[in-house]
Amino acid sequence: MEIKIPCDDDGYVLLQCHLCGEYFKVRGSDINSDDFYQIWCPYCGLISDSYVTSEVIDVALKSATNTAMEEIYNVFKDFEKKTRNNKFINFKAGKKPKQIFIPPIQSKIDKLETCNYECCKNQAKIMPLSKYIGSYCPFCGGRYDEL
Ligand SMILES: [Zn+2]
Ligand SMILES: [Zn+2]
Repeated sequence: MEIKIPCDDDGYVLLQCHLCGEYFKVRGSDINSDDFYQIWCPYCGLISDSYVTSEVIDVALKSATNTAMEEIYNVFKDFEKKTRNNKFINFKAGKKPKQIFIPPIQSKIDKLETCNYECCKNQAKIMPLSKYIGSYCPFCGGRYDEL
């Protein structure tokens, strides 16, 4: 199962640090690039084991549930077909289960501003306040003060 995480207009993907819970964005191409095998949280300067947002996790769980329900239903349906002419077993699969509605993943939180990390010649989008007070480069983990 694959969940597509949409990019914003500039090609950035929304990430959430699981250590501090804050959001930031890096380019989708950087996440898939071999040059950056690790991403540091620009706020706490640590490496989170996952940067998947809670929204994406929610969508993943819901689609897993939908897939599972569909599969179970298909097994029942199959059983119904196989036992159709069997006078000892009368099995009905019943109605197809309703799929859980999955809202499209937003690349929301647009109050983030692009920060230019000279150390890695790369950009990330972070909270304006952190841009002002200083942040950590998501690509090398170095302390970075733009101002
Ligand atoms: Zn963090
Ligand atoms: Zn850097």
